[in-house]
Amino acid sequence: MTRTGRTGPAVGRVGPELTTEVLVVGAGLAGLHAATLLARQGHDVLLVERRATLTAPIRTTGIFVRRTLDDFALPAECLGPPIRRMVLYPPGLRRPVSLVSTRDEYRVADMGPLYVAAAHGAVDAGVRLALGTRYVGRRDGCSLLAGPDGPAGVRARYVVGADGARSRVARDLGLDRNHHLLVGAEEVFEIPAGDEPPTFHCVLDPSLAPGYLAWVVNDGRHAHVGVAGYPDRYRDGLRRALQRFAASAPGLPVTGRPDEIERRGGPIPVGGVLRRIGCPDGLLVGDAAGAVSPLTAGGLDPCLRLSGIAATVLDEALRTGRPDPLAHYDGAALRARFRGRLTLRRALAQVRTPAAASAAFTLLRTPPGRAAARRILFGDGSFPAP
Ligand SMILES: Cc1cc2nc3c(=O)[nH]c(=O)nc-3n(C[C@H](O)[C@H](O)[C@H](O)COP(=O)(O)OP(=O)(O)OC[C@H]3O[C@@H](n4cnc5c(N)ncnc54)[C@H](O)[C@@H]3O)c2cc1C
Repeated sequence: MTRTGRTGPAVGRVGPELTTEVLVVGAGLAGLHAATLLARQGHDVLLVERRATLTAPIRTTGIFVRRTLDDFALPAECLGPPIRRMVLYPPGLRRPVSLVSTRDEYRVADMGPLYVAAAHGAVDAGVRLALGTRYVGRRDGCSLLAGPDGPAGVRARYVVGADGARSRVARDLGLDRNHHLLVGAEEVFEIPAGDEPPTFHCVLDPSLAPGYLAWVVNDGRHAHVGVAGYPDRYRDGLRRALQRFAASAPGLPVTGRPDEIERRGGPIPVGGVLRRIGCPDGLLVGDAAGAVSPLTAGGLDPCLRLSGIAATVLDEALRTGRPDPLAHYDGAALRARFRGRLTLRRALAQVRTPAAASAAFTLLRTPPGRAAARRILFGDGSFPAP
């Protein structure tokens, strides 16, 4: 092990041949959490990540919902101010619907430091973390890696695919893969403190965000301005849609945008948890498993919860020396509990014109419409309990 600077965790280098109990591919939140839990249970875990640093590029806004903040110990210094107010806008931004919760509903994390803190936690638990190391395939039960010291092979009893929405591990283990994807992009910048309470602004306009939403999260410290939608439905591309939205987005300070802007983006699986996410050789967690709310596209809470289930299953399999517990790692059962959200996702996907979006607001402005929106936006349905 070598220690690589004050802000980075201790990092292990991958040699030409290795063995380990568990190889975790991908050090996003899902992989970091699964690896840490397994190492805490005393297992030998190698976590490989293709990026050389965990602080860039970042592929999430970092909005954590109340249920996650209640159930997981996230480092407080990485969390922005609580958000209780949500404003929903139709195309044209006229007559928005404002919803205010009596509780703190969301907090936006400073994701770079949060990933680094999680990596320190993993290494402290005993995880061997190899950055700049890409999983490139699997041959004769051996996982092939390409790292700073060249190619290497790893024999692992189990492989965990935490390698995101377009998982290579899923393909190599013959597990299900995501086909129903949105793509999102956002700009993030610092803002001066204003008089407005921290607010999450959402615009339902299929010309900007076909099949999903455009958003501004302004928590008084940072603004996140983003759009997401079905890639084949952007008339002039995702980047242009983001530019158009940023030019007239609601909820931003009059001071305008600073010169320094961070750009984020990536695919978001919204087809629901995949059915086949485990086999005798390993399993999938996080986006690789499709563990994202099909309606809200929130994946941070689901990825933490599914990684917890995965770690329990793998711990039992390693302790008993038999892969039988992996048979209980059943995506179909979890998926069944997302049925309502999958139906609502299909409904949102049908909102194809600004006129349809405006009509949806007629419903949203009624008391039952507002109550339904509150249940979805301020509810506890981020991920079903196993
Ligand atoms: C623009 C955008 C905004 C979002 N905002 C929110 C939000 O505010 N709140 C929310 O709840 N959800 C949000 N989501 C969804 C959420 O970010 C994801 O569901 C969640 O981060 C998934 O975590 P993960 O660890 O499964 O995947 P990832 O964070 O994608 O991590 C996968 C990791 O695997 C690595 N990797 C991939 N392939 C390989 C390989 N071959 N070898 C080695 N490493 C590999 C990648 O580099 C990456 O680090 C957003 C998504 C997008 C795209």
